[in-house]
Amino acid sequence: MHAELTVAVLRETEPGERRVALTPDGVGRLRAEGMSILVEDGAGAAAWFPDTLYLQAGADVVRRYDALRRADVVLAVRRPPPEELHRGQVVIGLLAGADYPDLADRGVTAVSLEGLPRTLTRAQSMDALSSQDNVAGYKAVLLAASTFARYVPMLITPAGTVRPAKVLVLGVGVAGLQAIGTARRLGAVVSAYDIRPETEAEVHSLGASFLPMSPIPTGTGVDGYARALTAVEEQTQRRELGGHIAKQDIVITTARVPGRTPPLLVSEQAVSDMAPGSVVVDLAASPLGGNVALSKPGTTLITDNGVTVIGADGLASTMPTAASTAYSRNISALLLHLMRDGDLRIDLKDEVQAGVVMTHDGAVLKGGQTNAR
Ligand code: NAD
Repeated sequence: MHAELTVAVLRETEPGERRVALTPDGVGRLRAEGMSILVEDGAGAAAWFPDTLYLQAGADVVRRYDALRRADVVLAVRRPPPEELHRGQVVIGLLAGADYPDLADRGVTAVSLEGLPRTLTRAQSMDALSSQDNVAGYKAVLLAASTFARYVPMLITPAGTVRPAKVLVLGVGVAGLQAIGTARRLGAVVSAYDIRPETEAEVHSLGASFLPMSPIPTGTGVDGYARALTAVEEQTQRRELGGHIAKQDIVITTARVPGRTPPLLVSEQAVSDMAPGSVVVDLAASPLGGNVALSKPGTTLITDNGVTVIGADGLASTMPTAASTAYSRNISALLLHLMRDGDLRIDLKDEVQAGVVMTHDGAVLKGGQTNAR
């Protein structure tokens, strides 16, 4: 039994962040392992988990200051302000997005779910990038469908027959696969494209078609992620995609390459060739640029030719109950993985730990690039 460990769950401080790191269900799971759980008052409120549910699950609901002062381990979604953490504390979350010296200097052990080796079968239950991308891929389609001024499915009504909407998904990772499945369930005619050739079979298995594009040397790079294309390959890709994009009602883009600005797949010309009323959702929108020429995170714009371009920003957080439920399972599984003989034991020889432990004993062990949507 891990009798001594005190775990705190904080209310997120980033504007618009509605998720909570641990749900009442998760409290029960960690309590069963002998941990005591402190929850900052109101931590789960925005995800529809009121304090009463945490109390019923056996947590203590306390003020933030108290939670931080007493905790051995802090569970968070986004990085809490470093000045609130103290020496010897362990913080677990989606912590990337900046470098880590601030946390190392404070003597905090930073454990970031973004560093998880995702291809390890035993790490799948801890894969928060996947669980949150699943939510984002699903929500991107709903967002597009609710913006689209026509039906998505085919309808046969006394007022006439409606053709189904054409949806194109670019980038077939976790978010893309969920977007394809969701668009199919809504009745759209779906096509998709990815530079990793192994995705073609996955696209077909979801009942979508794979875009016919000029072959390139395999786009699969390190660890199953995409490689960056050369400038010439990128130009060819954009030009060819343009012809397909013009025929779509809805385009969802999700393409990313680790450590790089997302590739530009949809040019301004391609958007202006789309029909009025079409909708583009860029799940890869970032301050440095996304998959769509005009997109900005958190911004919806309507072009002169009547195309709505939505730059997604934190879509997982817009379905906070589902996203938190999955995240809570991921973070609990990781916390339990860090335990050895009833205590938290940092062991960098362990493959999972080597991936996720970013700072320890005052040293920065890894970089801080973010990959969370
Ligand atoms: P991601 O978010 O990094 O990128 C999304 C997709 O964009 C990827 O499929 C990528 O190939 C694609 N892409 C990149 N550049 C592109 C371009 N120029 N044109 C078209 N598509 C482009 O990917 P992800 O969802 O995080 O998944 C990355 C990999 O990790 C995949 O191989 C996935 O299957 C794998 N993965 C494995 C596991 C597991 O084994 N348990 C879990 C999660 C993810």
